Amino acid sequence: MTHPLQTAPQFDVAIIGGGAAGVLVAIHLLAAQGPVRRLAIIEPRAGLGQGAAYSTVYPEHLLNVVASRLSVFPDDPGHFVRYLATQPGYAGDEAALGDCYARRVDFGRYLSATLEAEPGAGDVQWLHDEATDIQQGNKATITLAAGARITARSVVLAIGNFARGIPLPAADIPGAPSCIPAWDYAAIRQIQPDADVCILGAGLSMVDAVLSLAARDHGGNITVISRHGLMPLAHVEHGAHDLNIDDLTRQNLRQRTRALRAMAAAARGSGEPWQWIMDSLRPHVQTLWATLPADEQRCFLRHVARFWDIHRHRLAPAVAEQIDAMRSTGQLQVRSGRLISIAQQADGIHVRWRGTDGTEPAQLRVEHVINSTGVEKNITRLASPLLASLMRQGLVTPGPHAMGLATEGSGAVVAEDGRAGAPLFAVGAMRIGDLWESTAIGELRMQAQRLAELLA
Ligand SMILES: Cc1cc2nc3c(=O)[nH]c(=O)nc-3n(C[C@H](O)[C@H](O)[C@H](O)COP(=O)(O)OP(=O)(O)OC[C@H]3O[C@@H](n4cnc5c(N)ncnc54)[C@H](O)[C@@H]3O)c2cc1C
Repeated sequence: MTHPLQTAPQFDVAIIGGGAAGVLVAIHLLAAQGPVRRLAIIEPRAGLGQGAAYSTVYPEHLLNVVASRLSVFPDDPGHFVRYLATQPGYAGDEAALGDCYARRVDFGRYLSATLEAEPGAGDVQWLHDEATDIQQGNKATITLAAGARITARSVVLAIGNFARGIPLPAADIPGAPSCIPAWDYAAIRQIQPDADVCILGAGLSMVDAVLSLAARDHGGNITVISRHGLMPLAHVEHGAHDLNIDDLTRQNLRQRTRALRAMAAAARGSGEPWQWIMDSLRPHVQTLWATLPADEQRCFLRHVARFWDIHRHRLAPAVAEQIDAMRSTGQLQVRSGRLISIAQQADGIHVRWRGTDGTEPAQLRVEHVINSTGVEKNITRLASPLLASLMRQGLVTPGPHAMGLATEGSGAVVAEDGRAGAPLFAVGAMRIGDLWESTAIGELRMQAQRLAELLA
């Protein structure tokens, strides 16, 4: 892959964002061996295929899906497993490796190695920069932060996940190293092992933060504060069935929720784990979302999504055991409540919150606060000069419920005037409003493959 920019900065396709989604699109475009050969990937991070998830420096951060389900190529399910077999630290036959929860850092390496191995990869230009603007004419003209401009017939927005801010006015939040974003793996590494730490949010990023601390033999107390105190649940051995969802699609949200509970109860009754029901739903989630009317989708987001998330986005069993063990010793405590304030004082950081049961505000004194409040889905709150420019020009418009961008079909972005298609396409998190499940590798690789077919 080449960089810096060469003399003729004209491309067939420019992919903005070189995380997992952008790299998957590039791989599938090259694998299609069609006429689209001049590709640019614009990505400011140190590596391709990393993004927020796979740039971790901690080997303790594991994938939350078994290796046999993470191949880049859906029709070659053993591809990732075969890669793992060549890597240090992975032993056993294909079946054993297929069932393992590999290190996330190795998945990022796998993505970039797979891209490098595709015929034509040598001609892909990696522009190590941020895209700040797109002007639309016959072709799209993309401006990079350093000032360079390139043109492309098609542009793929693969800009991924943006961390949600702490729900307080910016002026009231102490800076680093007192308050640290969960994805700032280097800053978390600097936390002293005896420091007391408060983690805001109880999702998968919280689990990451706890594992990062534990990896350095953390002895201080870790208190998690989240609105509902719901923690991600554990995986079990995989065993999904084929599921017919015709009845579910005709039901309203309440009926669907009841039906799923009944299925889980029936599964348990016949000795099967509820997890198998969730996994059986996986191929149908986008249909289930699309067949819910907008007001029911809103109701889902307000009342059901938090339960959906902990059942659907689960933990590798070994990780779940480690978290349970830390809770049982009391080192890790989980509180449900609403954050009131974070104040830096001479003796540390004072975090105040009010419990969900309406009790008097409680206070905690810690050395660090880690923001693990998750991913910001609301497009109007994202700090992206590129998106701000696209919105100003009416080239994009918010997706349903202001989540991500409005998109159609294989990823065509819908403009303010309702027109969709070339040159702008989106993949991954930017499609969440239309698809709901649009961030895990299982969905990303399908989207990337379809979009590559369209572009090629
Ligand atoms: C901590 C964490 C752990 C996860 N673990 C798993 C897991 O185990 N299994 C799973 O299936 N999924 C997991 N996920 C879901 C994850 O979202 C996807 O797997 C995948 O990493 C998303 O890739 P992406 O490319 O869409 O987004 P990102 O990884 O966010 O990558 C987007 C990239 O775009 C770049 N970018 C943004 N704006 C611009 C711009 N203007 N110009 C140029 N570049 C730009 C960013 O620098 C970034 O590198 C995890 C997510 C997180 C956050």
